[in-house]
Amino acid sequence: MIVMKFGGSSVANADRIKHVAEIIQAYKGERPVVVLSAMGDTTDHLLEAADMAVKGTVDIEKIEKLHIETEKQLGVSVPEIKELLGELKTLLTGISMLHELTKRTRDYLVSFGERMSVRMMSAYLCSLGTEAKAFDSWDIGFVSDSNYMAAELLDEVWENIPKHLGGYKSGTSNEIPIVTGFIAKDKNGIITTLGRGGSDLSATMIGAAMRAKEIQTWKDVDGIMTTDPRIVKEARPVDEVTYEEAQELAMFGSQVLHPRSMIPCRKTRTPVRVKNSYNIKSHGTLIVEEHTGTRPLVTAITKVKNVTLIDIQSSRMLGAAGFLAHIFNQFLKWNISIDVIATSEVSVSLTVDGKADLTGLIEDLKRVADVNVKTGKAIVTIICDASRSSVIIAKAFDGLSKEGINVQMISQGASKVNISILVDTNQADKTVEAIHSVLFA
Ligand code: ASP
Ligand code: MG
Repeated sequence: MIVMKFGGSSVANADRIKHVAEIIQAYKGERPVVVLSAMGDTTDHLLEAADMAVKGTVDIEKIEKLHIETEKQLGVSVPEIKELLGELKTLLTGISMLHELTKRTRDYLVSFGERMSVRMMSAYLCSLGTEAKAFDSWDIGFVSDSNYMAAELLDEVWENIPKHLGGYKSGTSNEIPIVTGFIAKDKNGIITTLGRGGSDLSATMIGAAMRAKEIQTWKDVDGIMTTDPRIVKEARPVDEVTYEEAQELAMFGSQVLHPRSMIPCRKTRTPVRVKNSYNIKSHGTLIVEEHTGTRPLVTAITKVKNVTLIDIQSSRMLGAAGFLAHIFNQFLKWNISIDVIATSEVSVSLTVDGKADLTGLIEDLKRVADVNVKTGKAIVTIICDASRSSVIIAKAFDGLSKEGINVQMISQGASKVNISILVDTNQADKTVEAIHSVLFA
């Protein structure tokens, strides 16, 4: 058995759906379980519709048109999609009357995208004579906590999924399961979502729980690239990365995979392959526990823009136990997560997401230290064999000094797979280019 996951752009319209259906049929012999995202930008459109509804306007035209026209172009009629569109309209009307949108309602609302896309694909496959069946993820055992918009799957999912898909794996049933990514239900039967991009996690969860041979996530590029090809045209596909490297890549700005998606497959060591739907024959990127050949010096370079740097200085830190604990506790209190950190005896520099509201945190920190906040920074991360950091840093810094780029902070991840440096956001792309050209020369 294998799992095949297709993201929104892979199923954005009738042509793309036809193409994906061909890919699924080509893998029929592998007993695929298919996981889908919502069509195209439907999730974003649902969120926009919600914002408008809060202001009093109900408008699902874009979403309705896309789904109805796609049905027509595929030559299928799917009554369930029409029912879901009706339910969606009712929900938006409710929101427009209350002028209020809770996180819980928002999750219910965005779930319509995935629920419609799986029904579309399944109907189309059936029309081609390929047996398929649409499932809402809760129908195959996806249960989560009630942390709406970023729910965590419960441990029981590991046992639930095989109960539902065991028959398909063993050959009792031949209907290809087409499963909604991204969504789940909590213990009370309320719909939750796993966070934006969460379909990757749905796919790896199914693959791991079913001990699949491989989990494929299909993209529109040749797998994971050495860096963003829109910035650096010399970027090239990477054959192999480790789960750990993939996780760091996801955390530090690469759009390739959801950061938490490596957790389940790592437990079972189920390989993940990132494949290109425009280039089916290409090998893609294989994600595994350990590099098969010699470990490469550098795997990839990513960046995150609009990061805020917080510099904390205190003479009290000199020799004082508990100072860092005190600082970290303030971050916990204000629920602000730290991304990169560097410390010396009397100072600590850390970075946080530029969108975080820091008002309360900074007030608290100022009670015990001098605090300096600098916005508009970017983190450039080199995913690499950090045990050979001297070579990597020497080369990278040589490239940067030639370009006149000033590095404001450097941190070598304890995971030994990354080195992160901080620069001004407006120099981020140039930094990536400079480092890429020296490290992948
Ligand atoms: N449709 C959801 C999103 O756009 C989930 C996903 O695509 O993975 O975030
Ligand atoms: Mg999407």
